[in-house]
Amino acid sequence: MNLETDYLVIGSGAVGMAFVDTILTETDAHVVMLDDRAVPGGHWNESYPFVRLHQSGSTYGVTSKPLGQSRIETTGVNAGFEELSSGPEITRYYHELMEETFLPSGRVTFLPLTRYEEDGRIWSTLSGEEHTIKVRKKKVFANYLTTNIPATHTRKYEVADSVTCLPPNDLPLQAPKFKQVCIIGGGKTGTDCIIWLLKHGYDPDRIHWIAPRDAWFLNRKNFQTLNNSQFEDTVGGQAKAMEIYAAAESVTDLEDRMEEAGLWQRIDTNRRPTMFHASIVAEKEIEELRKIKNVIRKGHVQRIEPGKLVMDEGEVAIDADTLFIDCTASAFKDYVNVREPVFQPGEIHIQVIRQFQPCFSAALIAAIEARIPEDDKNNYARPAPGIDTTTDVLLVLAAAMENTMMWMSSPELGEWRSACRLDGFASMVDNADMNDPKTMEILMSMLSNGEPAIQNLRKIAEEAGASS
Ligand SMILES: Cc1cc2nc3c(=O)[nH]c(=O)nc-3n(C[C@H](O)[C@H](O)[C@H](O)COP(=O)(O)OP(=O)(O)OC[C@H]3O[C@@H](n4cnc5c(N)ncnc54)[C@H](O)[C@@H]3O)c2cc1C
Repeated sequence: MNLETDYLVIGSGAVGMAFVDTILTETDAHVVMLDDRAVPGGHWNESYPFVRLHQSGSTYGVTSKPLGQSRIETTGVNAGFEELSSGPEITRYYHELMEETFLPSGRVTFLPLTRYEEDGRIWSTLSGEEHTIKVRKKKVFANYLTTNIPATHTRKYEVADSVTCLPPNDLPLQAPKFKQVCIIGGGKTGTDCIIWLLKHGYDPDRIHWIAPRDAWFLNRKNFQTLNNSQFEDTVGGQAKAMEIYAAAESVTDLEDRMEEAGLWQRIDTNRRPTMFHASIVAEKEIEELRKIKNVIRKGHVQRIEPGKLVMDEGEVAIDADTLFIDCTASAFKDYVNVREPVFQPGEIHIQVIRQFQPCFSAALIAAIEARIPEDDKNNYARPAPGIDTTTDVLLVLAAAMENTMMWMSSPELGEWRSACRLDGFASMVDNADMNDPKTMEILMSMLSNGEPAIQNLRKIAEEAGASS
């Protein structure tokens, strides 16, 4: 196949789709998208049946198409908060977007089951046929995150043949067949499995949880952007965080102040977390997770044998009739601290440029591509690199705040952001009541703490050994 296009986009996950959506509305360019999966939507196509976003759908997806119904949930641990879209909703969303918007535009060619190799070779994984694609403008690498998930990753520990260890996709059907369940992994997927089991009445004492590291969690009440009645918690929460970033004397001091302000949470208040993966969790979810008393903290699993776990720090006996659920795929690990310019000659390397917001970042990078002169683009797109620890996150926040200041200084991007549904914070500020003294106090506090926060975050991250 011989093709010619303006943009060749590698990857049709959430990031590739957000970029293309904005390029289509901002320019009259033609795009070829390729993906080694059969359909768009990336890792969401293999997600476990009970997966949900941990942020509201109102700020996830692409700019031109709303995700979800903008409902407030009335039951369960998320009651009172904006709805969290489910895996099926998300895959349907991306499939519809491709079929009903991208392809009918006549400006997008989608090549599924097609791989891009590092040497630039493009080939069909089905037929083996090679394709030649002439790119008039830029190659766009939308495979930077390439999210690891348990269903497709390779486990780093051994499992004896007679032991059942499966991805969370199998949890609902397999759990009833075993005396107990052992969840391996302390991240978002592990917590999802536990909350799902508890929701369905599973006895917390039948759950074992291997959590080598404790984590900090963000508080969902500070991420409600649909309604300006949440201004104080959401924008006010951000203002409070910036005050803390500007004043904290060390990483642990920052953690303590964030927890005291209710912005960060941890499950066991007697243990200091060493992991920060930006999971957004409701306070009620933390309460549920605290019900698990069988938490195994002996480092990572090396091998699972019948009746026994071989861990980094020794062996642990465990009933032979246990279903093990592997939640150890580290979505973030591979790109922690990888940073390269987003805009390079003839190429765009999409990275997160606002903390924890891959979709908004990808859409904004497309807007920068369309609206900002070539030699100035990277000034608006400093990578806010991957995160694993609190120290990593300080650098992410500093880079993202610097970006925000640049965006605020640009009328071209200001106009785009006001209209962009993925930027919940900007629209809340746009719609704020400027005659309300409390609102003004919050906004002024953010303004005055911006620059000191950036400087201080870098300082305490460096003191903690991070290389900026
Ligand atoms: C359970 C779970 C919940 C999450 N919840 C949220 C949330 O609430 N909010 C949030 O912001 N983020 C969330 N995330 C993070 C999530 O990773 C991102 O939101 C987003 O889906 C990442 O999209 P992506 O396009 O970068 O990656 P992917 O979904 O991995 O898509 C990349 C695509 O590119 C393809 N590809 C890669 N390399 C090549 C190549 N060389 N040739 C061809 N194709 C290639 C891959 O096969 C894949 O289809 C969650 C992640 C998980 C696992």
